[in-house]
Amino acid sequence: MTARSNSSGRKPADTVAPQISVRRSLIVVLGDQLDLDASAFDDFDATVDIVWMAEAAEESTHVWSSKPRTVMFLAAMRHHALALQAAGRPLHYTRLDAPGHGGSLGAQLQADILRLKPSRLVMTAPGDWRVLQAIKAVAEAHALPLEIREDRHFYTSISDFAAHANGRKSLRMEYFYREQRRRHDVLMQDDEPVGGQWNFDADNRESFGAAGPGVVPPRASFEPDAVTREVMALVNTRFAAHPGRLDSFAWPVTREQALQSLQAFIRERLPLFGRFQDAMWPGDPWLYHAHLSAALNLKLLNPREVVSAAEAAHRDGHAPLASVEGFIRQILGWREYVRGVYWTQMPEYLERNALDAQEELPGWYWTGATDMACLRDALAQTLEHGYANHIQRLMVTGLYTLMLGVQPKQVHAWYLAVYVDAVEWVELPNVLGMSQYADGGVMGSKPYIATGKYIQRMGPHCKGCRYDPAQRSGDSACPFTTLYWDFLMRHEATLARNPRMALQVKNVVRLTDVQKVAVHERAAAIRRGEVGAAHE
Ligand code: FAD
Ligand code: SF4
Repeated sequence: MTARSNSSGRKPADTVAPQISVRRSLIVVLGDQLDLDASAFDDFDATVDIVWMAEAAEESTHVWSSKPRTVMFLAAMRHHALALQAAGRPLHYTRLDAPGHGGSLGAQLQADILRLKPSRLVMTAPGDWRVLQAIKAVAEAHALPLEIREDRHFYTSISDFAAHANGRKSLRMEYFYREQRRRHDVLMQDDEPVGGQWNFDADNRESFGAAGPGVVPPRASFEPDAVTREVMALVNTRFAAHPGRLDSFAWPVTREQALQSLQAFIRERLPLFGRFQDAMWPGDPWLYHAHLSAALNLKLLNPREVVSAAEAAHRDGHAPLASVEGFIRQILGWREYVRGVYWTQMPEYLERNALDAQEELPGWYWTGATDMACLRDALAQTLEHGYANHIQRLMVTGLYTLMLGVQPKQVHAWYLAVYVDAVEWVELPNVLGMSQYADGGVMGSKPYIATGKYIQRMGPHCKGCRYDPAQRSGDSACPFTTLYWDFLMRHEATLARNPRMALQVKNVVRLTDVQKVAVHERAAAIRRGEVGAAHE
């Protein structure tokens, strides 16, 4: 798909508040609630209700939000403001650079309540715990009723998930996913999974081999229009020191563009999605992935339309079942499951640090200045596009911090800052639970750890790297491989109790004392920053 320009060049007005004597509801719409059909609008009456939206600097500074992420949110919000106005819904919208801006969502809402004098606040349930607390506090301070409605964007309500989780020792995704398939009749035939299997994961683990991926369809890209360009200029000035670049910003920021991205994915990438789901290739983060997470998380797309489009592609013979099932599992399974984990575990979840990891995040995570080829590639893509595919997030950037022993909160702050799709409800369980094992096994039955040889199998990065994935100690040892053995030794006692780790832990016994000391010394050098940072 080629670059196309978006929308009309119209600008969203800052404030369009009709003068009325009795204002009933202030409908609070957050930056990740860009859906005209959201539950908050169920009884909307344009003669007495008004929509409230505000850009807030705090949303870009409470973690050091990257430029692509901030532009993604602000550009999509401003386009949504235009859509609201076109739909005839009165809107009070505050821009980031509005004179006298309160700085945070809460402060701006307080000021606007005094100005607009609503008799109640209405909103669809926020995605983030922090934001929910902030809005509740404002409502309480003004003694205003706050009506929070179910977010029906998702297939599963939080109470349904809590009922599923109730009484279970562990929350494995697979059981939840099967329930979801049955309950929502997705890829089912006569109460049995289509194709006779729930899961085609075993078919979905290929790498590209030496020949590489060949010609991959270019990603769906959208040339920034006047509204987006204005946001980009603002972000480049206001958040000049923040990480990331904007020269190749081309994300969908309207519902129409999000739908075009979905169609392009189903047509051009879905057939090979499953096969190459775990593959990596230098300089190409896009490959056969969907690139739909930001559009989904901002609610420009509904997961039901995404899942039905994939199901239809299978029915029509356009895409094989393994690909379609693998893709649907991500949306109907993982995406819903991590939201359930987040809302049933917060706020304590944020404090978890089961492995007592206390190291600092290496500074080069914010710049990409490392001499490790796989990490350099994943970080460069992240900073350029605000995107890395799942396997880069889990088995490159996440794997490294896990084995290095970085404080989970620092890892969380980095992931929340750098990706255009980063919203806490989905980011936190993926980072803290799935990737860092900081929740001690709520999400995963074991830590995902691997040597550099795993990365070598999934792509060609190691060929162009100064390190050797087969070496665990010495000057050319791959830091992943060193840290893998160091991790096993540091956590030997805990891991030995986990039946799924027993085999890996047993290998430590085979190391001689001399070998153990060599690993230990090399790992200490990595932690002191003597290995890994790029030297010009
Ligand atoms: P695809 O690989 O094409 O997958 C299709 C869709 O499935 C995605 O768009 C997404 O909506 C959904 N999906 C896939 N995997 C997951 C998952 N594990 N959890 C939830 N939804 C999933 N996803 C985010 O949306 N926001 C994040 O901040 C985020 N942080 C992550 C951090 C770590 C450490 C890890 C391991 C994963 C993270 N993910 C996050 C999940 C996943 O990596 C991204 O959703 C995916 O890479 C987005 O790219 P895509 O749209 O091309 O996805
Ligand atoms: Fe990454 Fe190690 Fe391979 Fe280098 S050798 S690319 S650091 S896995």
